[in-house]
Amino acid sequence: MSEMMRAVLCKDPGQLEIIERPMPERREGEALVRIRRIGVCGTDMHIYQGNQPYFVYPRIMGHELSGEIVETSKNSKLNVGDEVYIVPYLHCGNCIACRVGRTNCCTSLKVLGVHIDGGMCEYLALPEPVLFKAEGITLDEAAMVEFLAIGAHAVARAQVKPGQRALVVGTGPIGVGTSIFAKLAGAEVTVIDGREDRLAFSTSQLGVSHAVKLGPDDAEQLKSISDGEFFHHVFDATGNPKAMERGFSFVAHGGTYVLLSIVQGNISFSDPEFHKREMTLLSSRNATLTDFATVMKAMREVHVPTKAINTHRAPLWDAAARMPEWIRPEAGTIKALLEL
Ligand SMILES: [Zn+2]
Ligand SMILES: [Zn+2]
Repeated sequence: MSEMMRAVLCKDPGQLEIIERPMPERREGEALVRIRRIGVCGTDMHIYQGNQPYFVYPRIMGHELSGEIVETSKNSKLNVGDEVYIVPYLHCGNCIACRVGRTNCCTSLKVLGVHIDGGMCEYLALPEPVLFKAEGITLDEAAMVEFLAIGAHAVARAQVKPGQRALVVGTGPIGVGTSIFAKLAGAEVTVIDGREDRLAFSTSQLGVSHAVKLGPDDAEQLKSISDGEFFHHVFDATGNPKAMERGFSFVAHGGTYVLLSIVQGNISFSDPEFHKREMTLLSSRNATLTDFATVMKAMREVHVPTKAINTHRAPLWDAAARMPEWIRPEAGTIKALLEL
């Protein structure tokens, strides 16, 4: 093994550069992973475009990762050659959230590729507890576990029950994951979005019951779909403050509103409307190991149309050329994978 490895560095917004840097040094308790697939996420696109607030450049992006074990610690549960998926959330294990198992909202959470350098490189040395054998799934699928786990987490937060109605607002990758797991939980799923290609995808590939296009009569449509009652569970996956505010009005009396979106600044809502529904309002951040396991099980049981979701791919070293293309709505990107 050479002393140096290659990586793709986001030097400044809009600037991706192939660099050489020293191979990571594996410490005891860590395994050395050869990175094989990197999913490109909305967060990466924001980092690349320079609209991720407070983000510190330069940074090696990449948090949707799968790879192959090259070296392990002593008495490891992993073996050289194992294919793994990586849980990119490095939590402290001691804080108030970690102590009750809410590792996804650790007070000092470090996400690979966001707060610390991530996986757009040849090798990473990582603590063994964040590495999981990708048994029964492909390397492509293993790199898609993380973003789907975010949807699984939101559905688990809402405690969706069979026969309930769920509305997923926003049909990007996070909305896709949310729709899949709401449906698996037994809900009748409706999606709403402004993009017809994505609505069509939700209907044909995810089997949602109703797909509503944003427009002047969309609220009327949502009302009639739900027999005038609106939805037990509304999930916002838009990243848009106006949409987040509007979503309150689609929640049924006694229902739950889950915000997966995060935006800068405040959002507001009508207190009387909120109160009369006795609405439960939840945020949903990242995912826990349980959610990752939920996704693995669903993939093994072939409930996730991973081939259809993975719309684009390229070698990692072509990232600088391909990322600007994938951002354009005309590209129809759902999930792009970079490979090594
Ligand atoms: Zn992501
Ligand atoms: Zn913690």
